[in-house]
Parts: sequence; C-alpha cells; structure tokens
Amino acid sequence: MDHASTVIIGGGVLGCSVAYHLAKRGVEDVLLLERQDLATAASCQAAGLMFQISSKPAVDVLNRRTFKVLPELEKITGEQLDFKAVGTLRVAENLESKASLERLYNRAVSEGIAAQKVNAGWRSKHLPWLRVKEDALTVHFSDEGYIDPYRLTYAYAKSAKSFGAQIKLGVNVSAIKAINGVVVGVETDQGFISCEKVIVAAGSWSNFLTLPLGCALPMIPTRSHFWIAAPESYFSDQQPMMVHADAGAYTRPEVGGLVLGVQEQSSRTFDYSDLPNDITSFAVTEEGGEWDALIEAEQRVSSFFPKLEGARFESYMAGLSAYTPDGHFLLGETKAVKGMFVAAGCCGSGVMASGGIGDSLAELMTEDKSSYDLNAFDPNRFGQVDPSSKEFQLLCAQARARKAK
Ligand SMILES: Cc1cc2nc3c(=O)[nH]c(=O)nc-3n(C[C@H](O)[C@H](O)[C@H](O)COP(=O)(O)OP(=O)(O)OC[C@H]3O[C@@H](n4cnc5c(N)ncnc54)[C@H](O)[C@@H]3O)c2cc1C
Repeated sequence: MDHASTVIIGGGVLGCSVAYHLAKRGVEDVLLLERQDLATAASCQAAGLMFQISSKPAVDVLNRRTFKVLPELEKITGEQLDFKAVGTLRVAENLESKASLERLYNRAVSEGIAAQKVNAGWRSKHLPWLRVKEDALTVHFSDEGYIDPYRLTYAYAKSAKSFGAQIKLGVNVSAIKAINGVVVGVETDQGFISCEKVIVAAGSWSNFLTLPLGCALPMIPTRSHFWIAAPESYFSDQQPMMVHADAGAYTRPEVGGLVLGVQEQSSRTFDYSDLPNDITSFAVTEEGGEWDALIEAEQRVSSFFPKLEGARFESYMAGLSAYTPDGHFLLGETKAVKGMFVAAGCCGSGVMASGGIGDSLAELMTEDKSSYDLNAFDPNRFGQVDPSSKEFQLLCAQARARKAK
C-alpha cells in the first residue's frame, strides 16, 4: 500500500478508537500502522478503571462517550467486553477533600450520574476490609466499573475493520513527512506511504515522530504501577472499586484478590529518547524496586487497609503513561504542521477516555469543528517546551503525583 487518506500511528487503545470512529464516519482509506502487535504497550497494562465523574468536567464528557461505545462495539463484534459495573466508593476524610467530594456528589446529581452517600453499615457490608474515620464522607457512584483494556483495544480494532479501516502490524514509522508545513506522508521500514492526514497515537513514543518537525509535545513518559494482593475471604469480585482521596490510593477487585494502586510523592519520569521500541525490554522499575513505593505509602495505605501487613502481594504491574504539566490530554491538530493531529498525553486515563478521544478527534478531522469542548486539550497550549529538560519532567511528575484516580 503506498497511499491512504489518513494514517494513524500506534495500535494502542487510542489509535484503535480513532480508527474506529473515523471509519464509522465514512472516512475511506484509513490505515493504522503498529510496529508490534495491538495493545502491547500501556494499553495492556492499565488497571482499566472507568469513571463517569471526576474533578475535570471536560474529561468526564470524553469518559462518558466510552461507556456509550461499549454496547456499540459488542454489537458490531458479537463479543462481550465484560465491563464490570461494580461502582466506585469515593472516600474523603480531611476537610478539603470532603469539600471536593461534596462538590463532586452535587455535580453528579445535577448531571444525572448515579451517586449515593453511604454510611458505616453500607461500607462494612460491601467493603468489609475498609477502615475509614467515623466522620469520613463516602459516596458510591454505582454506574462506574472496570474493563480489560486489551479486549477493549481489540474490539475497537475489529470494529474499525468492519467499517473498512486497514490495520497493519509490524510496520515501524520512522518519520512523518511534510512539505511547506503540510503533511504529505509517512516513511516506514516498508516504504513511503503518502497521505493527507496523520494521527500520532504513539503513546510515550510520540515525540520521536513530532519533534523532527519542530513540534515538541508537552508530555513526559511517567511510571504508573499497581500491586495485586492474593485472594482472601474478605475480598470479593462484587466489591466496588475504592478511591481514597487523602491516602492517594485506589483499589478494585481482581479475581478474588485486590488491585492496589498508590500515588507516589514523586513519580518516576523518563526521557522519551531513552525508550526502546519494545517496552517489554525496558525496566520501568528496577529489580526489587517494586516494593519501594509501597513502603513509602505504607502508613497511608494501612490507615484504610489495616490488613496490609498480612496481605500476600503476588503480582506487580508497571508501565508508562505520558503525563502533561496540567494533567490534561493532547488532542487536536498541531500548529507546526497542517494535517498532523495528536491523540496523546493520556495522563493515566486513556482507557476510560478512549471513546471520547476517538469520537471527538474523528469529528474534528471530518467536520473541522467539534461538539466536544476540546480547549483544555489543545496540544499547542504550552507553546515551545523541551521534553528532555529536567524542569519540564518535574512539572509532569508533579501532575502525576497530584492525580487522584
Ligand atoms: C500501570 C498502569 C495503570 C493504568 N491504569 C489505567 C486505568 O485504570 N484507567 C485508564 O483509563 N487508564 C489507565 N492507564 C493509562 C492507559 O493505559 C493509557 O492511557 C492508554 O493505554 C494509552 O493508550 P495509547 O494508545 O495512547 O498508548 P499505548 O498503548 O502505549 O500505544 C502506543 C502504541 O504506539 C506504537 N508505536 C509507537 N511508536 C510507533 C512507530 N514509530 N511506528 C509504529 N507504531 C508505533 C507502540 O508500539 C504502541 O503499541 C494505566 C497505565 C498504566 C501504565
């Protein structure tokens, strides 16, 4: 193939969602190029949490589109995605976090999102291992849940193909080519492909492609990780997910066990230029280091999970998410090159926002405007940045550390 109307670079959940939404809108000759297999990087590592409401209303709109897209994909593919609608219990203990949870609750009610303040009796019935302060504010958002991100990525890809998109695996894009500031094609290890539009959905590697064209994306590959505790009698798969604002931690059920994620005081960042093509050969956490963050958070975690000391942690998952200084995605056309769009800077939320990201970008590309409010996600909003500078890395690490799931 030597021509496509639109080339998407990257076969993670974002690239596949964009491919699906473009093809569904009738865009012909959509070609997605992935140098490995689909969902081999961040998109197979995510905890898969999906929220309807957060402190960022513009993000919520994108997330809610993902909830709507799930039955659509199931219908097209004929396969169940097995979304686990267990709900989320949000916990706030100190004054400030109680006030923000109260605001979240009020917004949920006004926007028609199921939310219920729950008491100690509810908590001990549904999360018997959870300990919170007597005067804690706890709110249950019953329509939220989690999904297998790998299956979701494949469902987007299969649905994209059913609308005529092509997906080619094992093709490395070495460069995006532009003439007079306008995209003309991509150079790959299997030859040149001309195209009118390119979407960079290459996750943590995106800067490799945009920087040579003078467009530094304001994002840094940042470590995200979680641990999985072995099954115990007090865990169950029907239990809700739990987000603890003050402890900076979240949990969700995992086949009789428990996924536990904690925010680090200072998140680990990487220079994009140090990343190998294949992330599986890269130590995001060095041998033995998987316990450091858990030890650092021991006090915070044992405050709500008193059984921490006896917990049997059996697995650890670490990967890279690209964080921006304000924790918002990078979504839209770059100023530097006409026809070069990005769906990147996923800030650890790309799975839950994938439906909205794909839909809004496809709309923007086909209609030159979007019914979503994408201002907060403008990829050009930070002007010129140096993604290799320590100062810039620190800004992104701080955005990661501030994030409450
Ligand atoms: C531990 C962890 C937990 C997480 N938990 C959650 C969660 O609970 N909920 C949530 O919503 N999100 C979560 N995330 C974030 C989520 O995984 C990401 O936001 C999402 O997967 C990003 O998808 P992507 O398509 O942008 O990137 P990726 O999945 O990284 O895909 C990028 C792809 O581009 C390909 N590529 C790169 N360069 C090229 C090139 N030059 N040519 C061809 N192909 C190329 C790569 O091979 C890769 O397959 C988590 C992430 C981690 C690491």
